[in-house]
Amino acid sequence: MPVIQQVEFPELGVVRCGEVNEEQPDLGPNEVRLRLSHLGICGSELHVLAGGHPFAKPPTITGHEISAEVVEIGAEVTTVAVGDHVVADPIMACMECPACRAGRYNLCEPPQVAGFRARGFGRSMLVLPERNLHKADRLVPMQVLAFAEPAACAYHCVNRMPKAALENILVIGCGTIGLSIVQALRIMGAGTITAIEPDPQKRELASEFGAARTVAPGDLPEDDRFTGVIDVVASQATMTEACTRVVAGGTVVCMGVPTGPREVPLPMMQRFERDLLSSGMYVPGDFDVVVGWLEKGLFDTQKLVTDVFPVEDVAAAYQRAQEKDSIKVLISFEK
Ligand SMILES: [Zn+2]
Ligand SMILES: [Zn+2]
Repeated sequence: MPVIQQVEFPELGVVRCGEVNEEQPDLGPNEVRLRLSHLGICGSELHVLAGGHPFAKPPTITGHEISAEVVEIGAEVTTVAVGDHVVADPIMACMECPACRAGRYNLCEPPQVAGFRARGFGRSMLVLPERNLHKADRLVPMQVLAFAEPAACAYHCVNRMPKAALENILVIGCGTIGLSIVQALRIMGAGTITAIEPDPQKRELASEFGAARTVAPGDLPEDDRFTGVIDVVASQATMTEACTRVVAGGTVVCMGVPTGPREVPLPMMQRFERDLLSSGMYVPGDFDVVVGWLEKGLFDTQKLVTDVFPVEDVAAAYQRAQEKDSIKVLISFEK
């Protein structure tokens, strides 16, 4: 029986590489067997580990940002073949509710996302439905492909905004997602990009990725205004700043995950048609766009991946991901 390695949170605060002897299930007609290559660690998983996630709690198998190789396909699979390199959409949608029927799988309720309500992707062998997979050129390194999921979050967010909002744009918060948004804005032809971020190294990266100006929180001149503001933090302070900084007729997008209700200055929003949008995950087509970016080398992952650990050292990988100067930490399942 093959030994499967998997990234487990057996209890609060504990990460380990588990090994299970498991018979490989037969594939359904639309299923694909994958060999996992790389797995990215996401901030939302750190919340699960620490017990701060609203519903996902240890014990659990984690992981939702992956690159993998196809090793076997079901009888009716047509879009991928054995040997293909793929990324996976972690939304295990029901395919039956009104949102799913409209193709907006990210709105399926309750969301069945790998590593949260659904079993995580952090396993050396995986079986997934064909529709969750997106094929990529084999020449793109697996380490780069593991970035497709956060890049899809960024693309989806920017793509939600009206074109006019992209003229002069403010990004608040430059962690992995904020820095991915700065790159998405540049690739998608946004005008002037300004970024607010406390960490000087991340400000430096935001500049390299296309921000014309980067400032620490509190350092933006009082009367600077923007056609669009993306709040990647979603605290009360950043939401207030976002709504205050946007011009009449402009657009604010809440991209960060708020930990509770937030106040917005509704009178000035309503009277001057300042719109507040939100962005939550992505739809399948977003993956195809960002895989194209990765294939063409438009989206830089090299400066964002600060560390790669072998799966055996997964505890150290998670430790590193909690340090302030790390950005994206990857786990390699390659032998
Ligand atoms: Zn994530
Ligand atoms: Zn659904």
